[in-house]
Amino acid sequence: MIKTVKDVDLKGKRIIMRVDFNVPMKDGVVQDDTRIMAALPTIKYILEQGPRSLVLMSHLGDPAKDVKKAAEKAEKAGKTFTEADKEKFINGKNRMAPVAAYLESKLGQKVVFAADALGQKAAVDALPEGGVMMLENTRFHKEETSKDAAERDKMAQELATYGDIFVNDAFGTAHRDHASTASIAKFMKTEPVGGFLMEKEVKYLEPMLHNPPKPQVAIIGGAKVSSKIAVLESLLKNASALVIGGGMAYTFLKAQGHSVGKSLVEDDFIDTAKKLLADAQVKGVKILLPVDHVAAAEFSPDATPVAVDGVCIPDNLMAMDVGPKTIEEYKKVISTAKSVVWNGPVGVFEFDAFAKGTETVARLVAEATGNGAMTVVGGGDSVAAVNKFHLADKMSHVSTGGGASLEFLEGKTLPGIAILATK
Ligand code: ADP
Ligand code: MG
Repeated sequence: MIKTVKDVDLKGKRIIMRVDFNVPMKDGVVQDDTRIMAALPTIKYILEQGPRSLVLMSHLGDPAKDVKKAAEKAEKAGKTFTEADKEKFINGKNRMAPVAAYLESKLGQKVVFAADALGQKAAVDALPEGGVMMLENTRFHKEETSKDAAERDKMAQELATYGDIFVNDAFGTAHRDHASTASIAKFMKTEPVGGFLMEKEVKYLEPMLHNPPKPQVAIIGGAKVSSKIAVLESLLKNASALVIGGGMAYTFLKAQGHSVGKSLVEDDFIDTAKKLLADAQVKGVKILLPVDHVAAAEFSPDATPVAVDGVCIPDNLMAMDVGPKTIEEYKKVISTAKSVVWNGPVGVFEFDAFAKGTETVARLVAEATGNGAMTVVGGGDSVAAVNKFHLADKMSHVSTGGGASLEFLEGKTLPGIAILATK
């Protein structure tokens, strides 16, 4: 298990902490404060220990990508993209000042905003006893995300001078090998530790990957096989059943020789799908693919749902959701599970007419939690689905990191976690 802020003495220490305040912004107003609120328990805990100072850093959006896009758009339109445009463009979307002000209002304590992530050593030293500072968006410096480790190190070395102890609570960015998430650890004189968010994520994701309560059921859905193949292979190790739903199921059904109509298929992955099915058979893992569907003639929220009462899908239709027989099958395996890990909706849940499968899965997983199973939901859209159906508090854990939780479950090393001290 990782060490946390509770395992080190914070009194009188200068703390430098990476948070994930990558919140949706519109015209300089925070649109959703979930991530800020999620970091508050750790921030408050640190401040209660009487530190010398607390400096917070985060990225917000992807300014370099935004600027590139805007410049390309300007070029296409035959206009020049000026520094002033860049400033104007960045200002609205990626500046951290409104986030610092928002934090200040929730914390009930002054938060000093530093208009640049770098060059702040003197300002940090000048903070009052127990003072809090929020740095400007770390991604305004290209070194933050640079592929060149030496460049990242240069930035990290300076960030490291702001603290005696590095705390990482940014699980959502833990899969990124960036200056403020990982490189900084090299330059700290003491062991880096996690915050409470990081602790909770690791506490639930680690057993799901390595030693889940058995039988474990893995439900993997979503649009594409290509983005989920690694997690499928990884979960095959411990799962007794693999539920494959959503758009990706149709590449598997095609691999088995069924007709799939106009459903989403990645032809390049048919062989991969075949191999996974064969591996599952060797390992004795039960695979559940859809046996019936709710289909439509077109991919649209207004499309008329058509029940397809069998595996094969007519040529003029595409599968949008799993059907009632499939849901019955799901019920049987999920109700006997001691642990469930779910990543990826089993249908186009954004369209009400095709949301039933995903909603039922959410209900079944919630029921399993009630019956004592350990249940973990990860993935941006799956979490959105669970929230849409108001079932988030009925799960053992809903991961705050889409990409990070997927990579964790794939068994990859997450740089932002690998640097933390363990106990
Ligand atoms: P997550 O973010 O939870 O990892 P993904 O991003 O992999 O999930 O996939 C989510 C998307 O998959 C949703 O937008 C959903 O509409 C889509 N999807 C689910 N079922 C289908 C389907 N049968 N056909 C096309 N898209 C689907
Ligand atoms: Mg997604």
